[in-house]
Amino acid sequence: MIIIDSHIHIGQWSELFFNYNSTVDEAIAVMKKAGVSAAVCMPADNEPNEKLLKETINNPNFKFYFMAWINPDDKSLDEFLNNNISQISLFKIHPSIQRRRITDDSYSKYLQIASEYKIPVVVHCGRWQEIASYKFCLEVALKYPYLKIILAHLGGDVPSIYLECASEVKKPEYKNVYLGTESVREFKFVENVIKTAGAEKVIFGSDYNLCLPQTFIPIIENIDIPIGDKELIFSGNILRLLATKV
Ligand SMILES: [Zn+2]
Repeated sequence: MIIIDSHIHIGQWSELFFNYNSTVDEAIAVMKKAGVSAAVCMPADNEPNEKLLKETINNPNFKFYFMAWINPDDKSLDEFLNNNISQISLFKIHPSIQRRRITDDSYSKYLQIASEYKIPVVVHCGRWQEIASYKFCLEVALKYPYLKIILAHLGGDVPSIYLECASEVKKPEYKNVYLGTESVREFKFVENVIKTAGAEKVIFGSDYNLCLPQTFIPIIENIDIPIGDKELIFSGNILRLLATKV
């Protein structure tokens, strides 16, 4: 089965993760060891977009898709997007690290670009409900009906949040909203999410360089769903999303 890891970080983190740093070569070794054949990579929060793009796009040793980190305070961001939009496959928005909701005005410009170029946007969703609730992403989905949004951590990282999120996103008005599995451990509840929201909405990711794909691949492998559904989760859904980019 083809496995694409749709959520990996490479490079330097801030004090948030104790300035931890990892290299592209380390990522390639970990992905290959886990049987992953391609990865969607984004910088860690203190790694420049430009540097990681150069190191990963057209890398001869591994297939990377590049996800740009959208920090509206990054003075070089607009120029970077202008110069490299054809090589950028996705955007990443992290409300908790940027300390503002995705509905904040500073994100509007980037959501419009994503909508126009059909670039899927991965949004960190977590337990910090005032800032990083999946509910703000659903507001954005109603405002930009053609924008593809992937809610990271299944929309909230803990069963009490992500089970509720799964039943919300199956509603027809959220047909362009997807769920990323990164860092979610509770396999029975992941199965529940897949059966509630539908396998065509769920996208496998590991959250490497913080977590390992080898930790999370067995969760999908061991869930009681048809093999075709596992193929969608491991590669089919993300490839379908990447194919629609303008
Ligand atoms: Zn992440």
